[in-house]
Amino acid sequence: MFNFAKKTQETQNIYFKTMALKYHKKLEELSSLDTPFYCYDLALLRETLNTINKEIKGFPYAVHYAIKANGNRTILEEIRRSGVGADLVSGNEIKAALDVGFKPEKMAYAGVGKTDREIETGIDAGIYCFNVESVEEMDVINEIAARRGKAAGIALRVNPNIDAHTHRYITTGTSSDKFGIDKQALDDVVEKARSLSNVRLLGLHFHIGSQVTLMEPYELLCKEINTLLDHFEKKGINFEMVDVGGGLGVDYENPEANPVARFEEYFNVFKRGLKVRPGQMVHFELGRSIVAQCGALISRVVFVKENAVKKFVILDAGMTDLMRPALYGSKHKIVNLTSQSTRQVTCDVVGPICESSDVFGRDVQLPFTRRGDLVAILSAGAYGESMASRYNMRSLPQCHFIE
Ligand SMILES: *Cc1c(COP(=O)(O)O)cnc(C)c1O
Repeated sequence: MFNFAKKTQETQNIYFKTMALKYHKKLEELSSLDTPFYCYDLALLRETLNTINKEIKGFPYAVHYAIKANGNRTILEEIRRSGVGADLVSGNEIKAALDVGFKPEKMAYAGVGKTDREIETGIDAGIYCFNVESVEEMDVINEIAARRGKAAGIALRVNPNIDAHTHRYITTGTSSDKFGIDKQALDDVVEKARSLSNVRLLGLHFHIGSQVTLMEPYELLCKEINTLLDHFEKKGINFEMVDVGGGLGVDYENPEANPVARFEEYFNVFKRGLKVRPGQMVHFELGRSIVAQCGALISRVVFVKENAVKKFVILDAGMTDLMRPALYGSKHKIVNLTSQSTRQVTCDVVGPICESSDVFGRDVQLPFTRRGDLVAILSAGAYGESMASRYNMRSLPQCHFIE
């Protein structure tokens, strides 16, 4: 595990200033708003982006933000201003990124099922790179680019068969996952790519999974990449870019102590382990670690009900606003923002949706909680708002920003 406790006092102070204090200071303002809503702390987002930029400075590294983690326009603008590029997984994401001013030269587009129209969108926009997941896809990109008299930049997504030791649904780099091209097939695919006239092979792409909290899978990934690059170098093939994907995890258990992900430790793994060739760029595609901690889902307690075995705190936010707990059984820290009580109660915090999986937390300790209290579900900035749905004909969650 990372040493989360190693966080500097300085960063902790920033968080306490931004989170606890800020929410409480703004409570009056927040209390008057309709719930549920996402509350984004732009100061923390900036602090996170500054940390990343500090870590990569002086290295041939570029970070692309995976906008599927959170495509909120204000968030995207903030990220674009920091100089970070965009990692995209659909045609609409390409359009959204262009719309907020991300430069096409700083865009990469991944996904196992890119449609012709989406490929056209990418080629017409002139994005830097398509991360290609199969030979069929490469052929289609080549054809579409040829029709437009262009050459599309591509990287081959390699399935490195590394277990990221994360949740089954967010492990992407083993042979039983649908992603990428098997290593055994890679030589042939590289050769084929080099023979096509309307694609330009820029490099290799990897992405092992999400919410990766161990550094070991990344160390293995570096070794794997070194071996592959050596192999191709011997054949006289050098790549201008290698994309190591994203996946760095955040501390969902204790976000107050660790508001900024362990970027130093993460980038150090690559600085130490990856043999970068002259003129080569290393691309990182971080999503969750950039936005998770800057967002909280603020909700109001609708009812508190008790039966013989349980106490249920029923919120006006549900799995339609934040799906992660229902989808992956993931846990978020939940705090009562308004209760002054020193008495702790054990309760299940649930949403109003007609699904038994609509539970934010089981046996959660909260201060004595009543109808009308405001509750914050922390670390909800990534895969929260972007996964919201209108199931039960609910409205999509609103959002507000604090600094
Ligand atoms: C989702 C995704 C990412 C970002 O993953 P995080 O865990 O949010 O950092 C990066 N690359 C690809 C190809 C992805 O699909």
